Amino acid sequence: MTDLSSVLVRLEPLVNDLIAPRAAQTDAGAFPAEAIDALGAAGLLGLTMPVADGGLGLGLDTASAVVERIARACGSTAMVVCMHYCGAAVIAAHGDAATRRAVATGRHLSTLAFSEAGSRSHFWAPLSTARVEGDEVVLDAQKSWITTAHHATAYVWSSRPAVDDGFSTLWLVPRGAPGLSVVSVYDGLGLRGNDSSPVRAAGVRVPGAARLGPDGKGFDLMMGIVLPTFNVLNASVSLGLCNAAVAGAAQHAAATRHEEAGTSLADLPTIRAYLARMKVRTDLLHTFLGDTLAAICAGRPDTMLRVLQVKAAGGEAALEVTATAMRVCGGAAYRKEVGVERAFRDAQAASVMGPTTDVLYDFIGKAVTGLPLF
Ligand SMILES: Cc1cc2nc3c(=O)[nH]c(=O)nc-3n(C[C@H](O)[C@H](O)[C@H](O)COP(=O)(O)OP(=O)(O)OC[C@H]3O[C@@H](n4cnc5c(N)ncnc54)[C@H](O)[C@@H]3O)c2cc1C
Repeated sequence: MTDLSSVLVRLEPLVNDLIAPRAAQTDAGAFPAEAIDALGAAGLLGLTMPVADGGLGLGLDTASAVVERIARACGSTAMVVCMHYCGAAVIAAHGDAATRRAVATGRHLSTLAFSEAGSRSHFWAPLSTARVEGDEVVLDAQKSWITTAHHATAYVWSSRPAVDDGFSTLWLVPRGAPGLSVVSVYDGLGLRGNDSSPVRAAGVRVPGAARLGPDGKGFDLMMGIVLPTFNVLNASVSLGLCNAAVAGAAQHAAATRHEEAGTSLADLPTIRAYLARMKVRTDLLHTFLGDTLAAICAGRPDTMLRVLQVKAAGGEAALEVTATAMRVCGGAAYRKEVGVERAFRDAQAASVMGPTTDVLYDFIGKAVTGLPLF
């Protein structure tokens, strides 16, 4: 039987042999293709896909543990896997049998193409269009960010509805479709290996059957399927980065000495207090993430509130914990050898990825005062 512990046993050598040793190279901008291929071959890209389709049939809790473990070694690779699981969740629910099987067996790398140049982080309100022409649909869009842009097999893509009313419709758009172009190579502050590039669609034709779910109901899929998956897994990336920062800073503090005084950094109460605060914040996030997963699993009445909170909690913790790690490690942290500066840079993304932390605070404020979210 495949369960969480056997998945982590399967994952560990991939992290130790492929992901961690290449994290610096990935941070220099190289997409972690070999690691992703190995995760696919090990069945881990099909982790959450139904057993009937050839997947492992495991839940969001296991996906969260996988993403967190990878993020401890490499934030970029973890975000690629996070976005894949988000796309896979939509495909599991609404994809055709061949695509479901390809995802389940590690032959299809997915991602989300929601953010647009016009609506920016307001992913629920795409401006891009879908026009029906016979059996086909013609898509035009300026997508502003797609993780894995040059490497995904297909994008889970949002547009305005083709015919019906509603906020949006979702489509499966093959990466190589004529009319689709990746506009530039990603050169960001952090997550530098995750290939998050803008993509333009000019008259891209997909069959009508490429639609994922009903026309005009993309918003329901975004809220019902993508939001819980993305928020939990994004928080899992944040937790992995926090854990990496705590471990890296603690190790540096214990091993680094002021020779003239015969003491280590860890002998300084100020440094120990910083480390303690980092550890408390990280473990609070871990506990909160566990409670969010428990709420989702049990269908608790506070599930939506927890889903909104967990990504905000993760993003804020990642900013604070990794910034404190930089302070603990002093000037040495500015160089790459301590390792915490990569976590610090990677940690900046969570709070600006949609739904951004500011938007989540607005939603949470509405939820606690009984106002409708939209
Ligand atoms: C590394 C990385 C990978 C990404 N990968 C993907 C991907 O795979 N697929 C995808 O679809 N997108 C992806 N994105 C895009 C992401 O989800 C956001 O759309 C993007 O970061 C928003 O940036 P922006 O400058 O357009 O934000 P803006 O919308 O311009 O926001 C600017 C600021 O205003 C605040 N703000 C905006 N609206 C509100 C509001 N209503 N209330 C309060 N404050 C508000 C924001 O919090 C932010 O601080 C990625 C982003 C990053 C950084």
